[in-house]
Amino acid sequence: MSEAAAFIDLRSDTVTAPSAAMREAARDAEVGDDVYRDDPTVNELERRAADAVGTEAALYVPSGTMANQIAVHVHTEPGQELLLERESHIYRWELAGAAKLSGAQTRTIDAGDRCVPTPEAVREGLVEEDLHRPGTGLLSLENTHNYRGGTAVPVEQIAAAAEVARDADVPVHLDGARVFNAAVALGVDASEIVDPVDTVTFCLSKGLGAPVGSIVAGDEAFVEEARRVRKLFGGGMRQAGMIAAPGLLALENVDRLADDHANAERLAAGLDALDGVRAPEPDTNIVVAHTDDGGIAAADLVAACEEAGVGGVEFAEHTTRFTTHLDVDGDDVDAAIDRIGDAVAELA
Ligand SMILES: *Cc1c(COP(=O)(O)O)cnc(C)c1O
Repeated sequence: MSEAAAFIDLRSDTVTAPSAAMREAARDAEVGDDVYRDDPTVNELERRAADAVGTEAALYVPSGTMANQIAVHVHTEPGQELLLERESHIYRWELAGAAKLSGAQTRTIDAGDRCVPTPEAVREGLVEEDLHRPGTGLLSLENTHNYRGGTAVPVEQIAAAAEVARDADVPVHLDGARVFNAAVALGVDASEIVDPVDTVTFCLSKGLGAPVGSIVAGDEAFVEEARRVRKLFGGGMRQAGMIAAPGLLALENVDRLADDHANAERLAAGLDALDGVRAPEPDTNIVVAHTDDGGIAAADLVAACEEAGVGGVEFAEHTTRFTTHLDVDGDDVDAAIDRIGDAVAELA
């Protein structure tokens, strides 16, 4: 029988430790200089990653942020507009990289709980180039939507938004850091989610459990250009097979994401039953706990939870995020509910 961990880290699904098999794969990886494209393990990972999302090609990069920023750089000219959702990761959490690294001007759409803008909102946000206006260079979408609580956006919504942009000859990027969570939750293949867009980012280092690395994928021409931009951004790596080998094993962790979703559902139900806490049923592995009714500040809850042995992150003034992942099991979830309950009781 397993027992709950002394500290249950639910800050993110990035906190997982590489498995023994991943460490062994890293040690034994066949390697070469990947800048010369000589690393067979990286080459295999890129092939398998492209297959996993149904694109022609894929590029291995150090992080999801770099993957997204490479896509923005490849798709846009300096001064062009980047159209994206108001709460999207690229807009909120990437240090204004689109402006700093690519000279892109961002235009945001408020998609509310829908997470992906409606076709009408995209149409309204697109800017046609003329004497006064710079033109839209890229529409970026996100699935699952992190800040909206790991929402799995249905394929039809992605397709409808993307179609409007593509009709206007504007390419579409999908920030699919957790696209496999979306696929598992929606019961579709990830390639179906990616099909309506031109390029996609996904993270090996989140729910899939790799220690390092993300993928940016698209057609051959995009990936060729992305490879140059990766070098420009300082992301050309040498014997990267050492970190790509665990990434290959991570790609085998897609189906088990369902366990994380079940654990998140159980956690949300447990938290929602606490006085002063609202935790809507999650689509995937991200639980968002609102404590505005009880008047508990997220910063206080995070601190009290840490004392009690649970890690979470402040998402908004009265909103805390808890994320399940492959290093927490059902016992941990039950213990987390008890400990968070104690923290809430103490603050109420
Ligand atoms: C985590 C995340 C990223 C960035 O990935 P890093 O590897 O942390 O740089 C991008 N987009 C979304 C939606 C994310 O959740």
